[in-house]
Amino acid sequence: MDFEFNAEQKALQQLARQVAKEKVAPRAAEMDETGEYPEDIFAVFRDTGLLGVGLPEEYEGSGLGITGLAIAVEETAKYCNSSALMLLLTRLGTSAILFGGTDAQKKHYLPAVATGRMRSAFALTEPGAGSDSGNISTSARRDGKHYVLNGTKQWISGATVADFFIVAVKTTPGIGNKGMSVFIVEKDTPGFRVGAHNKKMGVKGVPTAELIFEDARVPAENLLGRENEGFKLVMANLNSLRPVVAARGLGTAEGCVAYALQYARERETFGKKLIEHQAINFMLAELAMQIEAARLLTYQAAKMVDDGKVGKQAAPYFSMAKAFASELANRAAYDCMQIMGSYGYSTEYPMERYFRDARQLTIVEGTSQIQRVIIANALIDGDLKY
Ligand SMILES: Cc1cc2nc3c(=O)[nH]c(=O)nc-3n(C[C@H](O)[C@H](O)[C@H](O)COP(=O)(O)OP(=O)(O)OC[C@H]3O[C@@H](n4cnc5c(N)ncnc54)[C@H](O)[C@@H]3O)c2cc1C
Repeated sequence: MDFEFNAEQKALQQLARQVAKEKVAPRAAEMDETGEYPEDIFAVFRDTGLLGVGLPEEYEGSGLGITGLAIAVEETAKYCNSSALMLLLTRLGTSAILFGGTDAQKKHYLPAVATGRMRSAFALTEPGAGSDSGNISTSARRDGKHYVLNGTKQWISGATVADFFIVAVKTTPGIGNKGMSVFIVEKDTPGFRVGAHNKKMGVKGVPTAELIFEDARVPAENLLGRENEGFKLVMANLNSLRPVVAARGLGTAEGCVAYALQYARERETFGKKLIEHQAINFMLAELAMQIEAARLLTYQAAKMVDDGKVGKQAAPYFSMAKAFASELANRAAYDCMQIMGSYGYSTEYPMERYFRDARQLTIVEGTSQIQRVIIANALIDGDLKY
């Protein structure tokens, strides 16, 4: 196995690192305080080509795949998780099109996202169904050249700025995941609107909101894949993004350690620098070990997606990366806040923002418990053999 990034990936890492340090980092605290979507950072990502990193060259992306996107997201999350999420959304709201769209759908939506002319979001969760996606109740019924959608989605990241949504619905109720279909819904669809914001503790720069469908009329050609076969697409979409969520966790953990290490080099207690106390430097050593483990899991999983493995056999590896790195981000924020004492808890310093931002990572795109269900099932079914 080759653990080195190739020349193109290294160049991307350098670019993303520079953009994160020079453009993103100075804006991170402000976007957290105001909760406003940072159009200026979106423009920076567009102008530097970072929006298109995860999309194929034939659709005006740079063709660096999920590995490339994970690299860009890791570098960005070192300073700002909201900005990392903006990059992640370039695939969360398009992977299903990439995997199951027609040529016309791909040509219409993918270049627009890669170049920043359109923004997308992914809508599965509802008030009554999160982990249990087979229980969604938003419905779609065929009516001539349209489908008519009814229901409510919630917690949709980027909803307020999205131009179109990948929406999971039930076309046949009562048969769980087998009755699911997926539609592309444009923001100005009659009968559709973005509802209230879901107020939240972190990642405030990317608003999260409800979607409301009241007899929303969606053209039949906006069906993605085949009717009642949407669950596979939803899973492929989620699976392909788990390495990128892992990269958010990895970058967050690295950001925490870098900040706490610098602090510990400067702060003195009992006549020594903090870093000279073993109780402190062992905490950082422990996190460094786990960061390196998370890195291997994350990029192994990313490579699997880029090699075309997004199905059941690869699923436990995506789950391991996602659960491990997102839990690590939380441990890192917790321990690094401890290292900084009261300054870690202060809103004048970034650690409490890292702490709040990290918390959602074990909940979104499959909770830590659901990742363990997937890993356990792979053991039981023999997909994971030791
Ligand atoms: C900030 C944020 C952004 C989000 N963005 C999006 C988005 O863009 N698009 C979207 O569709 N959704 C989004 N979500 C929703 C997110 O994906 C769901 O919150 C998540 O899937 C969990 O669903 P739930 O909150 O309904 O919890 P539930 O499914 O009700 O689970 C509650 C608890 O029970 C546990 N649990 C459930 N079932 C099992 C089981 N079988 N075994 C063991 N434990 C179990 C869970 O792990 C969890 O701890 C977002 C959520 C947040 C907080």
